[in-house]
Amino acid sequence: MDKPFSIGVDLGGTNLRVASVTRDGRIIEKIKISSTGDIVNSLITCIDRVFSSDIKGIGLAIAGVIDVENKSITSCPNLRILEDMEIVKIISTRFNVPVFLENDAYVATLGESVAGVGRQFNSFVLLTLGTGIGGGVIYNKSPLKIAAELGHIIVEVGGRRCGCGSLGCLEAQASARAMVEIATEGIKGGRATVMMGHAGGQYHTVLPADIYKYALEGDTFAIEILKNAGRYLGAGIASFISIFSPQAVILTGGLTGAWDIYVQEAIKLASENSFKELFAKTQIIRSSLGDDAGLIGAACLTYSK
Ligand SMILES: [Zn+2]
Repeated sequence: MDKPFSIGVDLGGTNLRVASVTRDGRIIEKIKISSTGDIVNSLITCIDRVFSSDIKGIGLAIAGVIDVENKSITSCPNLRILEDMEIVKIISTRFNVPVFLENDAYVATLGESVAGVGRQFNSFVLLTLGTGIGGGVIYNKSPLKIAAELGHIIVEVGGRRCGCGSLGCLEAQASARAMVEIATEGIKGGRATVMMGHAGGQYHTVLPADIYKYALEGDTFAIEILKNAGRYLGAGIASFISIFSPQAVILTGGLTGAWDIYVQEAIKLASENSFKELFAKTQIIRSSLGDDAGLIGAACLTYSK
């Protein structure tokens, strides 16, 4: 008989999260620890805590470029140490079950389609809005196995430098990292803003949540940063609507906390710059699983192969 549980692992630059998950995407037990330190040891210890003879396999989600065929990591900017490691081999040898590896945005999309708000749609685009911007596409109920580097479409020709090396990527213009950089550059350049006095003058420690807070208090520069980033996000969403004509664009990640300004501005721009018929058919909504989408999707990798 098929084993009833799988393990999903989300290996982020900040946190390592592990969960045992049922076949229909329900989390049974979840562990979260810091991913600094000896990552392989931490990973094995965490998996060990939720492992049992009822585990069918283990799915690993990593922020980076994955060579799925060779089960290896091509590029992982937040955890460089993993690039030279045969992580799949290490884990499968240790636990003696099949181990799968995928990009974190891809598995979040899969998770949302299995157990989240995405279940009700045949086709949707998911965008993860955080330090970086990633995404995935479900088309006719199946995940599209394409690069789907949705954060790296160009929304501003000759724009800000992106971590990928290009100029003007969606990620370089509309991510949390971009907003913090723009805030810091503005303050250094003499922009009048209450952010200058953030944390007793430590304005470089300002976080996107702080920018949102200052914007709600009426700070003109903070509002401008969020609205500009929102417009670039809207340009991205308009493009994804034109390409995929999805039933929904599902948004997840920390920046959805700034929905009222950042996402509302994106929706406004997208509505003004999409084919009306296509836009009218697209719902722009929040993920219902949040961080759990990645864990559930990673566990689901063991069923879809
Ligand atoms: Zn880029």
